[in-house]
Amino acid sequence: MACCKMGKYDGWCSGEQTRNFSDSTGIHGYCIFHAPKKETFADEFNQRVFDLLRDASESSSSCNLRGTVFPEMIEFDVFDRNMPFPETDFSDCSFEFVRFTDIVSNNNITFKDAKINKIVLSKCNLDSVISFEGAEIKRAFMIAGEYSSANFRKVEIGYAFFNNAFFKVSVEFTDAIIDKVLVRGKTFSDEGRALHLFTDIKILNYLRFENVCLKNVSFLYADVSRMEFMGCDWDRIGSRRIIFDENNPDISPKHSDKVKREHYIKVKDIYNRLKQKFKNEHNDGEASNWHWGEKEMWMLTLTWKDWHKWVLGLYRFFCGFGENPMRAGSMLLVMFIAIVLILSGSGMSPMDNAPSHITSGLDSDFGKLVIIFIDLFKQMTFQKDFYFVTTNLFGEIIKTLGKIIIPVQAAFFVMALRNRFRR
Ligand SMILES: [Zn+2]
Repeated sequence: MACCKMGKYDGWCSGEQTRNFSDSTGIHGYCIFHAPKKETFADEFNQRVFDLLRDASESSSSCNLRGTVFPEMIEFDVFDRNMPFPETDFSDCSFEFVRFTDIVSNNNITFKDAKINKIVLSKCNLDSVISFEGAEIKRAFMIAGEYSSANFRKVEIGYAFFNNAFFKVSVEFTDAIIDKVLVRGKTFSDEGRALHLFTDIKILNYLRFENVCLKNVSFLYADVSRMEFMGCDWDRIGSRRIIFDENNPDISPKHSDKVKREHYIKVKDIYNRLKQKFKNEHNDGEASNWHWGEKEMWMLTLTWKDWHKWVLGLYRFFCGFGENPMRAGSMLLVMFIAIVLILSGSGMSPMDNAPSHITSGLDSDFGKLVIIFIDLFKQMTFQKDFYFVTTNLFGEIIKTLGKIIIPVQAAFFVMALRNRFRR
């Protein structure tokens, strides 16, 4: 009797001897690889798998192991630079515990739709794509080593731990459902076009990043409220931390306004969720950063026909959305100096009751500037004992304007200072 799985898996096991197994649907013939139980094949199973892989490696061909049932632990640790792990198809396989240690390969390995109880990749060097698309993985550990790309599209993961497993090109978790995932240390390359996608994933418990570089990690559509970030390295614009998607080089000026607007609405949504998440955790410093980003994204989604954009533009210009005390303080100083210079040029004269130490200081231009500076500071801060008056209408207008905008800008400065340092 031929192996009953032959048809499903393109007959790769056609030369194999079979044994009969009975279940509720009758008696079926199985080869050693597809048999649900291996007892009747004694200890030869792992050795037969090794033989197939070794033959494929030596002949530089690919190894088809689709649908194989791995009943016990199997460890691959003999594949090195001299005998690289061959291109292997583990699609639809089921694993109890599979371990790859120190293996080297530049061939693709796929676990498409596999069912994996536990998998460990330790100190491997895989310059290729390792794909788990559609797989169900209860526990996965990727410890140290260097990898090119990993595909976790549509996977379901119970627990995964990535510890200093470095991905040079990409890691993709699109459409995945994950329960608990911990990513720690040097994991994601930020060089060149490296791009790591945690987009559109569903997180049941947590996705935690510890001391990870997130500069080339995309979070579009992701449920960031269940993500945790500890000591991560973000990309920045000035002092503001940003996600990769804000600066995505694929969104360029050549795109239509509609495309750009839709993109920035998505980024704004992510920033809003991050802000809410950190607010709920009472982490004001982080909430402030993502609030700032959210406002920046809002600006990008508006056109100058919309008055909101003008208000936001002024709000950003004068104080960085209330989050940038350096900008607010500098603006305050610039405004004040500008008003002093304009008024000293347009004419200010001492009042009759000005004391002699004020009037005598007017002999030099510099002395005049200093005295007007002090006097205007008093006027702007609503003190009573000032001694200068304007000598023309223009000066009076500027002074009145200054009395309005200086206190407002001072308030912006204090607000930004408080927002930055209350944490
Ligand atoms: Zn078979």
